[in-house]
Amino acid sequence: MANIDKVAVIGAGTMGAGIAAQVANAGIPVLLLDIVPADATNRNAIAEGALERLKKADPAAFMSRDAARLVTPGNIEDHLAALAECDWIVEAVIERLDIKQSLYAKIEAARKPGSVVSSNTSTIPLSALIGGLPTTFASDFCITHFFNPPRYMRLLELVGGPATRPEALEAVRHFADHRLGKSVVEAKDRPGFIANRLGVYWLQAAVIEAVEMGLDIEDVDAIVGRPMGIPKTGVFGLLDLVGLDLMPHVNASLAAALPAEDPFHALNRPVPLVDKLIAEGYTGRKGKGGFYRVNREAGKRKEAVDLVTGAFRPARKADVEAIAAAGRSLTALLDHDSPHGRYAWRVLGRTLAYAAFLLGDAADEVEAIDEAMRLGYNWKQGPFQLIDKVGVDWLVSRLEREGWAVPPALRLAAGRTFHRIEAGRRQVLGLDGAYHDLVRPEGVVLLDDLKLNRQPVLKNGSAALWDIGDGVACFEFTSKMNSIDSEIMDLLGKSIRRVKKDFKALVIYNEGSNFSAGANLGLALFAANIAAWTEIEQMVTAGQQTYRALKYAPFPVVGAPSGMALGGGCEILLHCDAVQAHAETYVGLVEVGVGLVPGWGGCKEMLSRWSSLGNLPKGPMPAVGKVFETVAVATVAKSAAEAKELLFLRPSDGVTMNRARLLADAKAKALSLVEGYVPPAPPVLTLPGPSGKVALDLAIGSLRRQGKATPHDEVVSGALAEVLTGGDTDVTTPLDEEQVLELERSRFMRLVRHPGTLARIETMLLTGKPLRN
Ligand code: NAD
Repeated sequence: MANIDKVAVIGAGTMGAGIAAQVANAGIPVLLLDIVPADATNRNAIAEGALERLKKADPAAFMSRDAARLVTPGNIEDHLAALAECDWIVEAVIERLDIKQSLYAKIEAARKPGSVVSSNTSTIPLSALIGGLPTTFASDFCITHFFNPPRYMRLLELVGGPATRPEALEAVRHFADHRLGKSVVEAKDRPGFIANRLGVYWLQAAVIEAVEMGLDIEDVDAIVGRPMGIPKTGVFGLLDLVGLDLMPHVNASLAAALPAEDPFHALNRPVPLVDKLIAEGYTGRKGKGGFYRVNREAGKRKEAVDLVTGAFRPARKADVEAIAAAGRSLTALLDHDSPHGRYAWRVLGRTLAYAAFLLGDAADEVEAIDEAMRLGYNWKQGPFQLIDKVGVDWLVSRLEREGWAVPPALRLAAGRTFHRIEAGRRQVLGLDGAYHDLVRPEGVVLLDDLKLNRQPVLKNGSAALWDIGDGVACFEFTSKMNSIDSEIMDLLGKSIRRVKKDFKALVIYNEGSNFSAGANLGLALFAANIAAWTEIEQMVTAGQQTYRALKYAPFPVVGAPSGMALGGGCEILLHCDAVQAHAETYVGLVEVGVGLVPGWGGCKEMLSRWSSLGNLPKGPMPAVGKVFETVAVATVAKSAAEAKELLFLRPSDGVTMNRARLLADAKAKALSLVEGYVPPAPPVLTLPGPSGKVALDLAIGSLRRQGKATPHDEVVSGALAEVLTGGDTDVTTPLDEEQVLELERSRFMRLVRHPGTLARIETMLLTGKPLRN
């Protein structure tokens, strides 16, 4: 298979720029070209402007500053010759067939033989795109449909044509999966592919029915949200996010492309309310609001559109009680004799039927359609999983009762489910009417799959230890939000003893959306409220001892985080021999946000890292300064690459772009460390003592005077400065680990009794936001 070592993206708009950034995030050089502006003094102005915007994008498009340097901006008049060096050329120009085709002719003349060309088109069929172009072009051409924003949306729809070389398709698939971290779903060359075709149908059904039934917008978003496992933005919130002005265009282009018998046409009625909102400039969150808005003249009041009158009114709370009463289960909600129940059925019943209708048309695999909706629209479950939940037979009989068409795929599945688990393996119903094993791509191992055919080695209410084969064990957090509590510490201690006896290595990994949000603050606050200081101190000590036991265990330990790894979740990683991190890992010691200092060895490990790996000037103060700078303002790295810059990860730690490959990569890393493994030598820390503290106090005082630090910040930073500078020590008396841990513990205990800290913890628990007291 041809390697992809250099990429060009043509079209530096929203999508092209984002795709180029993700290629750069993978460490691959990328050329970003756009047209020469009409009145050009700078012929690269458009691509250069795009690069500048990428650097400032929020959420960030680049994972590091180094990545940004891999993008070279240019234009399609002066730099086409450079395409000859590229292995993959991605076209992401405006959605016009004539423009795309005339560009392809230029690309064909400039590219090297065997390079792959792909289009990011959302709506134009591949057959139309290659029309009139040479067969050499058609055989190297495919569609790669990314979702916005390309860094964060994991779905990539890949469409090949009858002439596309299998090796060309495979080269792109491999690169997109391994290097760009995408979950690649194969779609057929049908209008809207999978996600947009079904997603647009679902949104249209939800809007039309809500307007025609005259429901409250808040109720609609609540019905579509939680009970159906869809993000709480629901339908109207989602349309505000993507921009409602897109809706008429997307609907029109789909309607024009779909055959006359497609069920979409029956739903594609004009919605005068949407036209009115767009005409008045209510295009969504990018503008002055959409279905929801913030009314600045009324004291920033949140308002929503009344779907009957079209006027804005104060936003209400959804009638969640009525919705919950109607829908103890999803089927109960769909069956409920109320406007809420009828609405839920009319939207979901239709959408699920349409999903079944698309099987064999937009894709041949149930899993492709499920994955497209899970990753393209963040549905918790794909449509076929939802069909299994309500029951195929229930759905068929209800469709028949309503006089709606029953798609053939539902007849095929009669009396069965689309997904099943057979002898510990996941199986999916195929178009041939038989079940087939769900085959994960080579190198993808999911703990969720492994659990189907084994019992945990150890388990309690907050964690479990699994045998993942080849002598490797996996420690999984299972608590709410994977927060760390005494049960986790307890099972971790037991696991260390068990792994020592029965395994070669340990991986710490879970499949939650976040590795760990940190220590369980609710428990800490509860203990503080009843003045259980001894218990709190025991929790701190137990954590320190357990993490230390992990560090010095006689086998290698590899942490494998994805998503947030904060506070205690970061500290466990700091005690691992190595980390294999998902590229989208957000690590930080954020304890000061709740008025505390890291107390489970976080200060100690960061000091030791910055002293040994920091490349800093001589003397103890530079490392202390670096750690203070990072921890005193609760810095959170916004990617694994940034975590390396902050030394939350070591330069030698591994990064996995594709979330689904993390466990296999972590296991391989753990096994690579087994032979000749020796635990690390305990560090000795040379810290500056009170003179260093004076320097940090000066910095804190100045921040306070500039209004950048609050009174309680000063208290907390002061305690942090004491720990990091080594308390009463001086440069000539190095400290061992236990002495630094003792400092962490004593300052933590002092702070946790402080009313300012308790107020911070309480606010964090109530609002999820830090209190600036
Ligand atoms: P955009 O309008 O933001 O950017 C298009 C860019 O193409 C502009 O910078 C324009 O100057 C440039 N351009 C126009 N003609 C060109 C030419 N001949 N050569 C080089 N550059 C040229 O558009 P976008 O939203 O980034 O969409 C690009 C493509 O991606 C379209 O095919 C669209 O359907 C598809 N797409 C968009 C989204 C989305 O959410 N925006 C999602 C998936 C796919």
